[in-house]
Amino acid sequence: MKFAIIADIHGNLEAFRVVLNDAQKQRCTHYACIGDVVGYGANPAECLALVRKMGMPCVKGNHDEYCSIDEQTEGFNPAAAEAVQWTRKQLSEDGRQWLRDLKYVRMVKNFTIVHATLDGPQRWGYVFDKLAAAASFPYQNTPVCFFGHTHVPVAFIRDSMVRGGTYSKFKIEAGKKYFINVGAVGQPRDGNPKAAYVVYDTVEGTIELRRLEYDIAAAQKKIRDAGLPERLAERLAYGR
Ligand code: ZN
Repeated sequence: MKFAIIADIHGNLEAFRVVLNDAQKQRCTHYACIGDVVGYGANPAECLALVRKMGMPCVKGNHDEYCSIDEQTEGFNPAAAEAVQWTRKQLSEDGRQWLRDLKYVRMVKNFTIVHATLDGPQRWGYVFDKLAAAASFPYQNTPVCFFGHTHVPVAFIRDSMVRGGTYSKFKIEAGKKYFINVGAVGQPRDGNPKAAYVVYDTVEGTIELRRLEYDIAAAQKKIRDAGLPERLAERLAYGR
């Protein structure tokens, strides 16, 4: 069984379409979504409709949360807060309700998905280093857990200690636990502007990070035309 694991689509329909195309070419038969379907990009409603139509299991991201409620946005920088306000107006009440109903943590087949961390999935902490990953592992009840939120693809492995690093393809080994960030579809921040997602082959036990070129200029133009902050368009080109 081949899963496409996708995170942080962020309303970037150009990147999302390219990822779904590639997943098909890679013969993925199943999908899982790590959250932040909306926020930042100019096509939140379209991306949400696709995720729903495909019926993929999905967990809630911080942008999904803030775009689906009416409360004041806390802890967001001004550009993100402005995008939240704009995104709220683009979504139907039905779409917002669907986002509100998402769970923070889910089991899919034999693995777990969570947007931010397992030790406080509703606190939206960021796992950038071994220390933060080590705090999540005690709450991980499956050998493999996928997460997002930082938009930086990196894998943490726990055996006798916790190690971490970048990856392209590796095999899951018995007796170890893996906490894997699949990178961002719609707004990469590791200095590589290509859209990212992971192919998880549950039979072979392999994890493969895919990086794909997409029409960045088209996504940028939509952001500018929508009157969203210029920085949100600019950063797509740098992957920061
Ligand atoms: Zn995000």
